[in-house]
Amino acid sequence: MSKFLDVISSVIDVRGFLILCLVFVPLERLFALHKEQGIFRKWWWNDLTYVLFNGFFIRAGMVVLVAGAGVVGRLAVPDDVRTFVAGQPFWLQLVEALILADLGFYFAHRMFHSIPFLWKFHAIHHSIEEMDWLAGSRIHPIDQIVTKGISLLPLFALGFSTATVVTFSWIFFFHSTLLHANVRWNFGPLRWLIASPNYHHWHHANEPAAYNKNYAAQLPLLDKLFGTMHMPNGEEPAKLGVDDPVPKTYVAHLVYPFLPSKTPAQCAPEAEPVVEQGSASAPEASATTTQSTSEQTGAPSKTDAFEVSFAR
Ligand SMILES: [Zn+2]
Ligand SMILES: [Zn+2]
Repeated sequence: MSKFLDVISSVIDVRGFLILCLVFVPLERLFALHKEQGIFRKWWWNDLTYVLFNGFFIRAGMVVLVAGAGVVGRLAVPDDVRTFVAGQPFWLQLVEALILADLGFYFAHRMFHSIPFLWKFHAIHHSIEEMDWLAGSRIHPIDQIVTKGISLLPLFALGFSTATVVTFSWIFFFHSTLLHANVRWNFGPLRWLIASPNYHHWHHANEPAAYNKNYAAQLPLLDKLFGTMHMPNGEEPAKLGVDDPVPKTYVAHLVYPFLPSKTPAQCAPEAEPVVEQGSASAPEASATTTQSTSEQTGAPSKTDAFEVSFAR
């Protein structure tokens, strides 16, 4: 059975899908935000395609990026610095990695909202109209590779330990899935510190006041710092999605950014920072668990890390 799963997992992410199912299906039944929304909501099967197959493309892209980051790191960062970074306590490296990676995510994400050509890739993720753990997987592979590449490059270049990168990637994987889940959590007083489903639901709101807000993936304070926070206290957005003519199916999504637009992309100009009355919100996510080297060697590898954090 294990051999069979290994073969299947080389093409599709069976393990990642099973883990997500076991965690998030019961969670959404217990804490549903929209109780009327069923497990098999509209277009669920298309988002399942993302969970199963998107990782294949993302892994291919990440192999190139991570190899490049390793070379750049060795050339641009002195060995003494890399040795110092890797020699810090694990918990300190993890905190630093969370901040550095989310800074990278914030600016990459903001770039995808600001440049019309890039927005066409990102509009696919924003075409989600019914939020749940499965919908969060709907990300164009190029969006995923570039955003996660920018986010993780400093960690590889600065020489963070393998255990740190792998742990960060698992945290990101589950956190980003939770952010899209159909749950009514806003994390109360912690909502300014840790991105919550409520925070990220607002990022997907199809309401002018919420356009180009809540870019961070894990640390809402970054949005507060850069004037892009939008988290009306205790409220959930009334409408999700985009007005762009985004198609509905996986293959059509893959080619959509390369086709001429019939209508201007709904890439909203950068808006003036708004003064918030309420609280925080949350980010983007994705990843697929894949068969990893650590399962064979017993030790985590950086390959595990990017496979975990990039596949979904
Ligand atoms: Zn976005
Ligand atoms: Zn999202």
